[in-house]
Amino acid sequence: MSKIIASAAIRGAHHLVRQAEEMLAKTIAEKGEHTPFEFPDTAYYLPMIYAMTGFPVKTLSDMKVALGMAKEQLHPEPEENLWKPYLGEALDSGMASLFAEEIMMALRYIQGLEPVTDPETGYVYNGFITDTIQRNLGIQLVDGTMPGFAAIIGAAPDDDTAVKIVRELQEKNILTFLSGHSNGNSVARQLLRKGIELGWETRIVPVGPDTEHTIYPLSWSVRASLIFGGKKPGDFRAHLKYTKDRVFAFALVLGELDDIKWTTGAGAINMGYPAVCDTDVPVIHPTGVCIYEEVEKEFDHDKIVQKVIEVRGLKIIVEKPPIPVSYGPAFEGERIRKEDMFIEFGGARTPAFEWVRMREMEEIEDGKILVTGENWKECFEQGGKMPLAIIIDVAGRKMQKDFESVIERKVHHNINEAQGVWHMGQRDINWIRINHNAKKDGFTLEHLGIINATMTHSRFRSIVDKVQVTVYTDEKDVLKFQEEARAAYKERDRRLGGLVDDAVDTFYSCLLCQSFAPSHVCVISPERLGLCGAYNWLDCKAAFEIDPTGGNQPILKGDLIDSKYGRYTGIDEYLKKASGGALETLNLYTIMENPMTSCGCFECIVAIVPEANGVMIVQRGHTGMTPVGMKFSTLAGTVGGGTQNPGFMGIGRNFIVSRKFLSGDGGIKRVVWMTKNLKESLREAFDGRAEEEGAPGLLDKIADETVCEDSEKLLEFLAGVGHPALEMEPII
Ligand code: SF4
Ligand code: ZN
Repeated sequence: MSKIIASAAIRGAHHLVRQAEEMLAKTIAEKGEHTPFEFPDTAYYLPMIYAMTGFPVKTLSDMKVALGMAKEQLHPEPEENLWKPYLGEALDSGMASLFAEEIMMALRYIQGLEPVTDPETGYVYNGFITDTIQRNLGIQLVDGTMPGFAAIIGAAPDDDTAVKIVRELQEKNILTFLSGHSNGNSVARQLLRKGIELGWETRIVPVGPDTEHTIYPLSWSVRASLIFGGKKPGDFRAHLKYTKDRVFAFALVLGELDDIKWTTGAGAINMGYPAVCDTDVPVIHPTGVCIYEEVEKEFDHDKIVQKVIEVRGLKIIVEKPPIPVSYGPAFEGERIRKEDMFIEFGGARTPAFEWVRMREMEEIEDGKILVTGENWKECFEQGGKMPLAIIIDVAGRKMQKDFESVIERKVHHNINEAQGVWHMGQRDINWIRINHNAKKDGFTLEHLGIINATMTHSRFRSIVDKVQVTVYTDEKDVLKFQEEARAAYKERDRRLGGLVDDAVDTFYSCLLCQSFAPSHVCVISPERLGLCGAYNWLDCKAAFEIDPTGGNQPILKGDLIDSKYGRYTGIDEYLKKASGGALETLNLYTIMENPMTSCGCFECIVAIVPEANGVMIVQRGHTGMTPVGMKFSTLAGTVGGGTQNPGFMGIGRNFIVSRKFLSGDGGIKRVVWMTKNLKESLREAFDGRAEEEGAPGLLDKIADETVCEDSEKLLEFLAGVGHPALEMEPII
């Protein structure tokens, strides 16, 4: 193991702090020190500085104060021959460097220099990473689909090596940030030259061309501690422990190292993120260079990814079906444009559907893939469009009829995760495209069957003992089975409709988010899905069958203590245990008293608007102001971390149209403001619910951002349309 050079880290820190000071002085001279600043879509000011010191930087003069804090961490710059060999000094300097870099980036935003556009390729880097991204990725992080983050700094020796490294990370489902350069080259440029699709969808995110831009992923990762961990701003020890224990990040440094790379690396090492370099980093300098052991080297680019995964101690389980293209969630976001498309199915162009069907054990043969249809081979050779039915027959001793829909919902991911294959929709409104490259690599219709068989086994092991897949391509077959499938979908919907909270004696917990928010428990009932929107009652039931000791546990409801607010003895008992004593009691159907806790990955936030005697709802990603005077990002900051906050609650989008939505507080008639996006996407179900509540046309009496973003105008609007909330009993 080789060692990082403290003197380089200290020297780099001095350089960065000086540079930040100069930039700040210049900007203050131009704009005045009261000039306000905020990064896009964050509630955490300059997040690294805020997490570590608790000091909210809001103006240029605040930056001066923060830079003063950075300077306090600086140790004297080592002289050439008198290197001061102390680990602690390098680490302190590393943190000073991160502060300086964060301030520099803020100043660059003020000057309109961020995000950077690459002059050679015209590519626009991501720049600052928002809170929304942190929340969007929440579930993938906790359920293990995304095992970690990589920061690649510099450039690979050649374009092909860059592609190879990044593909390997993608296949392991690791989110990769790119920054910095080496010898006038960068991994971002190398990938662009090779036509690799960059961005959040493919999990390769270039943040900026300089080493200093590495602060973006770092200041983003520390927000996991603020958002999910509920750690207090200023409690730097808690944050550093959290990032080390729970945020699985690491760096690959490609190409030569300089002082700035060393000092930024020292900052990252503080957070518990190690690095592997591909150059011969010096070991111990004869004069006693300060050292520490978080930097490794690996010259072989075939081994470098594996090496860093070992160094960080990541657990990676990747299930890949035997198909001729790459496979993994990183390929899920790929789009296939018309020009790149070889063939398509469904999408209202041809009849198509997908259907999971429960069978008896003796009726099917495990692993059998059948492609039936006259001339399907020739037709597939020609490209264009074709009818397609995918029928997945499953059998298993623990299989239940109710799990058909749970398994079927995964078909989207099963197919989409193949590189060069794209899937949208479900049931009989699905749409599949295969691109020319996948075809060239040997992908066939049989592989659609293989993918579904392999992944159904792997995702539902212990429910499913046998999987057989039949693919039909003749229009008459597709149409015939489509009728059968439609009847089955209908029957399923009917059963699901009858599945209500009062009809079952068991709810389920979801504890997945405890890896980030240790006291958070989602209580999931038939009429209330998890707040991330990804798990409903049936999903949890299936998950418990698959893994009885996993993150979804049955909760016996016990005795009803309060029917209005939805409080049960069994749930309270369970909650006390599962939250480690942090929670005493929970009311399922109110926002006003002991409501459900929120981890941080909620799809929407409900908040009371006392003046309007109702509630408002805003979804993640909405950046505008709301009538409670807070944006989503600020609201989210007050709701997360696994605590109960009466008057505020994170929820899954579909809960809004549940009969149990705030039923103890008066139900959907309490909704006075809701974003246009929510209104549009829920319209049909919402109208049905409003009708049931005796308030037809309610949706149009609910204000949205096009009507108002403050409570005064909201009240005017509500009075004008005669919103029912104004007549209801006081919510407080
Ligand atoms: Fe996290 Fe709740 Fe979603 Fe489970 S259901 S992943 S605990 S938010
Ligand atoms: Zn969560």
